[in-house]
Amino acid sequence: MTKKIMVTQPALPPLEEFIPYLEKIWDNKWLTNNGPFHEQFEKELAEYLGVKYISVFSNGTLALITALQALRITGEVITTPYSFVATTHSLWWNNIKPVFVDIDDKYYNIDPKKLEAAITPRTTAIMPVHVYGNPCDVEEIQRIADIYGLRVIYDAAHAFAVKKDGQSVLNWGDLSILSFHATKVFNTIEGGAIVCPDERTKQRVDLLKNFGFRNETTVIEPGINAKMNELQAAYGSLQLKHVDTYISNRVELAKLYDSLLKDIPGLTFMEVGEGVDHTYPYYPIRVNTAEYGMSRDDLYFKLQEYDVFGRRYFYPLISDFPTYKGLPSADTSNLPISTQVSKEIICLPMYASLERSEVEKICGLIKDKPWTK
Ligand SMILES: *Cc1c(COP(=O)(O)O)cnc(C)c1O
Repeated sequence: MTKKIMVTQPALPPLEEFIPYLEKIWDNKWLTNNGPFHEQFEKELAEYLGVKYISVFSNGTLALITALQALRITGEVITTPYSFVATTHSLWWNNIKPVFVDIDDKYYNIDPKKLEAAITPRTTAIMPVHVYGNPCDVEEIQRIADIYGLRVIYDAAHAFAVKKDGQSVLNWGDLSILSFHATKVFNTIEGGAIVCPDERTKQRVDLLKNFGFRNETTVIEPGINAKMNELQAAYGSLQLKHVDTYISNRVELAKLYDSLLKDIPGLTFMEVGEGVDHTYPYYPIRVNTAEYGMSRDDLYFKLQEYDVFGRRYFYPLISDFPTYKGLPSADTSNLPISTQVSKEIICLPMYASLERSEVEKICGLIKDKPWTK
């Protein structure tokens, strides 16, 4: 039996480098609640990402939920069905009605041309996603948001360290949310963050993630417990020393994939926008059944027989899950591009420690289709 190649594998720092961090935690016996590593990690992270203020969380979903609370978003929020379920779940947990808008065919992000038609008197915000780390059309989204007085909260879970024209994409909109889940480019095992534009917003977010405590005796509103603990923060601080290597490995692997797959008819690759420093959180390709000679699903299952485990991501669409399916905007006729892409997409294995020989094996299978012989 050959080694199974999974779609992802978490990037871990060398264990021996983590021991001194653990020793510090054991010495000072401060495990959570804004400890020294929490403070250090937030500083280092803001600097690394090129953002002014950041508040770290126990995971990305709680960061999304809290971001909506921080801005007191209510009513309806316009979002994309082409994302991970947590994007829309965060609206649901705030009693907000999601309104789905279709995506563009190139970068798979919410299509600004279709935004205005979805705005109603109850709309208060837009929650776009930088899908696969492709920056959204932020200028156009902001222009529309400004006309209608809407807030913009970016789900930037895929956009860690992504830059456009040398600037972090995390400074766009009112708030941006990151996830440091084990499967992401940068992980703190579980974890997340809210990027805030100013100190007052960070103070509000900090208070909301800690039960609403302003000080020892004052609770100003019903906050949640979404604090990052000291082990996560220490681990995150160590991960920051290695993340440039993780990213450059991914970029190299993506180049190799591109070069090995480029001449195969019926496959489309993700385009990287002009001026974008990409981090390749995923390596998606689209399969055109007629031109490639088999469907995405057939390819997905065939590869598994050869120990290669891709992921149909995003499939199904969020709008197809039972909770959301009944919404008028969830109707397939409203979401033709998302529906199409979701049927054609497959993310191939991509992670920092993936071997070049493994990429060669995967591409060889896709090219030669040995199952037909
Ligand atoms: C991973 C992810 C999340 C959720 O983050 P968690 O840290 O796992 O809670 C939200 N949105 C998108 C687009 C994601 O990929």
